[in-house]
Amino acid sequence: MKIARPAAEWRPSRRLDALPGYGRGRAGQTIPFRHRLGSNEAPDAGGAGRAEAALQAADAIHRYPDLRGETLAAALSQRHGIGSDCVAVAAGSVVLLDQLIRAACDPGDEIVTPWRSYEAYPIIAGLSGARLVEVPPDAAHTADPAAILAAVGSRCRVVLVCNPNNPTGTALDDDAIDGLLGRIPGDRLVILDEAYVDYAADAAEVAARPARRLARHPNLAVLRTFSKAWGLAGARVGYCLAAPQIIAAVQAVAPPFPLPGPSVALALAALADPGAVAARVGRNAAERARMTAGLEALGLPVARSRGNFVWLPVGADARPLTDHFARASIAVRCFEGEGVRITTGTPADTDAVLAAARAWRG
Ligand SMILES: *Cc1c(COP(=O)(O)O)cnc(C)c1O
Repeated sequence: MKIARPAAEWRPSRRLDALPGYGRGRAGQTIPFRHRLGSNEAPDAGGAGRAEAALQAADAIHRYPDLRGETLAAALSQRHGIGSDCVAVAAGSVVLLDQLIRAACDPGDEIVTPWRSYEAYPIIAGLSGARLVEVPPDAAHTADPAAILAAVGSRCRVVLVCNPNNPTGTALDDDAIDGLLGRIPGDRLVILDEAYVDYAADAAEVAARPARRLARHPNLAVLRTFSKAWGLAGARVGYCLAAPQIIAAVQAVAPPFPLPGPSVALALAALADPGAVAARVGRNAAERARMTAGLEALGLPVARSRGNFVWLPVGADARPLTDHFARASIAVRCFEGEGVRITTGTPADTDAVLAAARAWRG
């Protein structure tokens, strides 16, 4: 049935006018590409007890889940050695980023971020009415701490750093992040988006570091996700670690029941099986090294990646190179006029990328 149109006078909020669309340049999730290397997903769903955990959760599916995700928050507080009032969970870390920004910013406020970075940032900033202040990286495509500090003006409420950075894969080391945290005034919120941290640091460090930082920097919020190294992108589980006052504000801007029961069960099963993450991280390191070396040997520019993807800053060649990969049934992410991001997947994925790249250099 054809439904009626809203009145001609009806219009959405003006905040929507200037928003870029999410997934711009995404090379087809609907077309069945043989190699899906456009979204930085894990190449496997492996992990002990996952299916059983989800099935068991289905037994209670007629009941509402935890009001604030308390069961998962408690498990995460154990993992990271901090109070469970320092943990908020939601259906993806992008949702928590949106909550943090809405909790921290009023229209006209500024969010300082190194750029090029994650394409969700301008959308989330725009929805809150805040302005994204984009700070150029250094020559190696890495965030520039001095330039970030210089961009923190009187309207700045948030400094947002993606580390390792999507899509360049580059990362600031531990000391650089600590130095930055030490110099940003305490009345500004610093958000560290650590979606890829598992690929970049030792597992014990990944677990212990947030508590150590939060003890010294109460204006910090750390974002983590189960979507990447934990292999649960489809379950939509992310979390935020911060001081209880910040967590309370994050929860105040969101409706209750942030996570479906089966997603909580899948995340708990993943937490109980850290070996699956370690194996994934190990396989990723091997494929990332092979992909980087192979592409560089062909004369392509490749940034130094610490994530599960590589960045090719090919400028105007981004679109034709993306189309070339698509013809080889390889989906990659195109950043028009800037570069191409390729997720590292299975050995067969790497072989396919390198074969297509060889044909491109021809
Ligand atoms: C993939 C990704 C996320 C994860 O988002 P979820 O909503 O948890 O799936 C967050 N930040 C960055 C930079 C990412 O690339």
